[in-house]
Order: sequence, then structure tokens, then C-alpha cells
Amino acid sequence: MSTIKFLRSSTHNALRSSLGWCRHAASRPRYNYDLVVLGGGLGGIGVRQGGAGCGARVLCFDYVKPTPVGTKWGIGGTCVNVGCIPKKLMHQASLLGEAVHEAVAYGWNVDDKNIRPDWGKLVRSVQNHIKSVKWVTRQDLGDKKVEYVNSMGSFRDSHTIEYVAMPGAEHRQVTSEYVVVAVGGRPRYPDIPGAVELGITSDDIFSYEREPGRTLVKGAGYVGLECACFLKGLGYEPTVMVRSIVLRGFDRQMSELLAAMMTERGIPFLGTTIPKAVERQADGRLLVRYRNTSTQMDGSDVFDTVLWAIGRKGLIEDLNLEAAGVKTHDDKIVVDAAEATSVPHIFAVGDIIYGRPELTPVAILSGRLLARRLFAGSTQLMDYADVATTVFTPLEYSCVGMSEETAIELRGADNIEVFHGYYKPTEFFIPQKSVRHCYLKAVAEVSGDQKILGLHYIGPVAGEVIQGFAAALKSGLTVKTVLNTVGIHPTTAEEFTRLSITKRSGRDPTPASCCS
Ligand code: FAD
Ligand code: NDP
Repeated sequence: MSTIKFLRSSTHNALRSSLGWCRHAASRPRYNYDLVVLGGGLGGIGVRQGGAGCGARVLCFDYVKPTPVGTKWGIGGTCVNVGCIPKKLMHQASLLGEAVHEAVAYGWNVDDKNIRPDWGKLVRSVQNHIKSVKWVTRQDLGDKKVEYVNSMGSFRDSHTIEYVAMPGAEHRQVTSEYVVVAVGGRPRYPDIPGAVELGITSDDIFSYEREPGRTLVKGAGYVGLECACFLKGLGYEPTVMVRSIVLRGFDRQMSELLAAMMTERGIPFLGTTIPKAVERQADGRLLVRYRNTSTQMDGSDVFDTVLWAIGRKGLIEDLNLEAAGVKTHDDKIVVDAAEATSVPHIFAVGDIIYGRPELTPVAILSGRLLARRLFAGSTQLMDYADVATTVFTPLEYSCVGMSEETAIELRGADNIEVFHGYYKPTEFFIPQKSVRHCYLKAVAEVSGDQKILGLHYIGPVAGEVIQGFAAALKSGLTVKTVLNTVGIHPTTAEEFTRLSITKRSGRDPTPASCCS
């Protein structure tokens, strides 16, 4: 066993007294730190900033293992480096390509026949933005006096974290009163020949040096659909391979409408199909062999890129959780309502938690609330109900609350009223964009003021539309209130204020004009 050293922080006592965290102020610290956070993503940020803001002595570990093709990045976690941020920027790039064509219809003198993206420039712009976000993150750590170690941390016992400062160096260890595990997850690879050697994942695509070209996107969850859509918008040729259904867990009608919208835009779906092998051809392209599980027919096709989007696994394997006694389920950590694990002073936040939404704002808010409970006397728990979310496809899909199926399952079909309607965004008329998939619905109670249980919207800027409604829904929004709200005209969000057709009525939900 290599020599073990203890890391000491020179500024701890001065810091905790100057910032006023009085919990242990009078006593000699028993541990090196008040809080050690494993993971430098946004879940970790929430808790470490909250802790440091209360005067706690905080140390954060963050380490990223390179992907099989060698992609690596620094602090900031998935969202900043290989998730929400680069994804939103590529989504925007693809929407802009579409807007160029619309601009011509609006009278702009643009030669829209010859537009094509400069993939290399786009990747550089995206990566430059990420660098600037990370610079701010590092500055913020310094400002908040949070110590940062760029190493993988693992448990030696329930209060002790072990790490190696650099490859080949001796093991070091630190002790902490509390430990928060915020290690997130990484993409899975299918267990088939060639998958790891020849395929890439969302961890690689946002910094991919060559143009993706004809791309097989395997997986029809958030990542698969979003990547397929921005690739299509940028002029490449994605095909989506679906194992069972599109967007499992979402409202079925909305998911199928979204898939129809993608098909209309020229994205093919290979339904009920699983990959069998990936092989490199003599010309360098990738031959993918697959099987349709409905027909049991085998097939194959050739692609330039294969992108796996089959879900993510929690990064528990390097944590040595057994040494601390922390219980897990599959590759996630089990926590209670206060994010406490089976060991009361060890907590977990973000994607690593079992059974909670894997979304950035969930990770941030749960981390922040946890820090307030640990260091500022708060008792407020994270409310994981009715978390709004958006799938960033060209017509976006955003929702909050229950799907139609869940509402019927929990309340019974007789107790549910579904208000719905297609609509025509004003800005779609001049460029004659398809309005076939612009649709929204409210799932509500059938009686009284008709409390709304779920809202669903497919259309432009869906996330911007649903965010405000999410707060209203958490405050007990009813159909009566929505219909008594004066809309902002002409917007697409105002369509919620005129949802008068119920599915039960059997009336046609297609609008006659823009303003009916
Ligand atoms: P992470 O951000 O994954 O951070 C964990 C960090 O800990 C990583 O840096 C990891 O390398 C490090 N680490 C792991 N093990 C150790 C260890 N033992 N020691 C030290 N460090 C360790 N969410 C949204 O809300 N909106 C979106 O639009 C959205 N888009 C997404 C797009 C993509 C392509 C992906 C993949 C995800 C997207 N998400 C989105 C989900 C969002 O990115 C995650 O929910 C969020 O990043 C989770 O944060 P976290 O802090 O829990 O984990
Ligand atoms: P998801 O779990 O959402 O989707 C995984 C997809 O892969 C499903 O279609 C699933 O099919 C399929 N699949 C799973 N295992 C296999 C397998 N062995 N072989 C073939 N297909 C398989 O994962 P994602 O990676 O898309 O997203 C991970 C999480 O990241 C999301 O849950 C979300 O919380 C977060 N995220 C959020 C975004 C946002 O907010 N806009 C964007 C991107 C990610 P099946 O249905 O048959 O199981």
C-alpha cells in the first residue's frame, strides 16, 4: 500500500469564522473538511456553492475519464461540456439553417440554394463557448474559497476519501464530516462487436473533428432524437434505430406526433430494430448489421458515423461504496427524501440518484437545498413532482405533469378531461411551414374548476412556453383559470388560453383560422 498523506487546508478556521457558519465554530474540527463533494458537475456546484456560502470548508473532486475515442474535458460536468449547452448550441445552429430558407420568403435577398454548414467552425465556436463557461466556473470556485482537486475520489471509509493527485503518485486521503456524491453518469455502449471501437456517443459528437455525414443514431430517447434532429438540420443524413417505442415515459400521443414530425422532415426510423455488429469497410465507412425483432429479418446498411444513444449508466464503480456502506440499486445510489444515502452523513444529488429525473435544474436545486439544510438550518426538501422538461427537436416538445395515460391509470378515464387543439403559428404562414404537428393539450380533472394535471405542447420554443405554466401548475392551475386568462396575441403560448375542445366531445380540434 502506498504512503498515505493527509491534505490540509490552511485557511479553514479563518474562513469558517469570517463567513459565520457557527455549527462547529467553537469546537476544534474533527475532520479536514466540513464537506467533500465528489463530482464537479452542476449537481456538485449547487451543493458546494451553497456549503461554501455558509462558511463551510468545502473540497470538490472532479475527474473525467476519456471516451474510447479519446474525447476528454475538464470541470463543469455533463451539462456544460457534453450535454445541455453544446446540444442547445447545435440545435440553434440547425434552426438557423431553416431560418435562412424562411428569410427568403420574408423578402431577404439570400441565395438559400447553396447554404451548407462549416462543421469545423461550428465545433470550434461551441467549444470556445464551453471554455468560457468553464473559466467562469473555475473563477467561481476560487471566489467561494472551494478547494478543487482534479482527481477521481473514492471512499476509504465513510468519512475518508482517497485519491491520487496524478498518475503514478502516492495515494492521499482527506476526511470530511459530510460527503455528497454527485458523480453523474456516462453513455452506455451496446454489447456487440465493433460498438466501442467504431461507434461514438454524445460525449464525442460536440467536439467531433470530421463531419458526421450519414449517421446511424441508435436510441429513441432524448439524446437520440435531439442529435438526429440537429444533424438533419445541419444537412447530414441521420437514421434513428428504435428498439421499442419513441420517447418511453412521455405521453404516447405527443411522442408519436413528434416522430411523425421528424419523418416529415426526412429522418427515417428503423422500427423494432437492434444492432448486431459494426464493421469497418475497406473504404473506411461503417457497415452496421441489424435485426428487426418483429419480423426476425436481418439487414445491414452503411454509415459514416454510428452514434449510440441508448441511455446512461451511473458512475458508481470507482467509488468503492462498499467501504462506506452506501446502498445502491443497479448503477445508481438509493436516497431518502432528504437525499441521504443508507449512511446518514453521506448524501447524493443529480443523475447518480436512483429513480429521479436526470435533468440539470433538478441536480442544481436539490444540491442547493441540501447545502442549506446541512449548513444553514433549513428544513426544505426538494420537490421532485411536476418537473417540466423539453425535447429540443425542430418543433420542440415540452411538458409538465402527467401524461394522458398516467392520468387515466391513476384517476380513471371517467375522471379525466383532455382539452386539445392543433394551432397555426402566425410566423409559419409566409414561408408556408407545415403546421401539421403544432398541437397542445391539457390533461385535467373532469369536475369542479378542473385542476390541470398535465400540459403538453409541440411547437416553436416549447421550453419558453411551458416554463411559466410549470409554476402555475405547481400552484394548482385550473382549466377555469387558464380560460379566464387573457392571451398575448399573436403568440403560440396563448393557444392554451383558448383550449375549449375536449377529446370526449369528438369535435374537430383543427383551427379554421389563426384567430378563431
Ligand atoms: P454530471 O454533470 O455528469 O457531473 C458529474 C461529474 O463527476 C463529471 O465531471 C464526472 O466525470 C465526475 N466524476 C465521476 N466520478 C467521479 C469520481 N469518483 N471522483 C471525482 N469526479 C467524478 N438536462 C437538462 O436539464 N436539459 C437539457 O437540455 C439536457 N440536455 C442533455 C443533453 C445530453 C447530450 C446529455 C447527455 C444530457 C443532457 N441533460 C440535459 C442532462 C444533464 O446534463 C444532467 O442531468 C446533468 O448534467 C447532471 O449533473 P450531475 O452533476 O448530476 O452529473
Ligand atoms: P433514454 O433512457 O432517454 O433513452 C434510451 C434509448 O435507448 C431508448 O430509446 C431505449 O429504448 C434505447 N435503449 C436502451 N437500451 C438499449 C439497448 N441495449 N439496445 C438498444 N436500444 C436501447 O436515454 P438518453 O441517453 O436518451 O438520455 C439520458 C437522460 O439524459 C435522459 O433520461 C434525460 O433525463 C437526460 N437528457 C435530457 C435532455 C433534455 O432535457 N432535453 C436531453 C438529453 C438527455 P427502450 O425504450 O426500448 O428502452
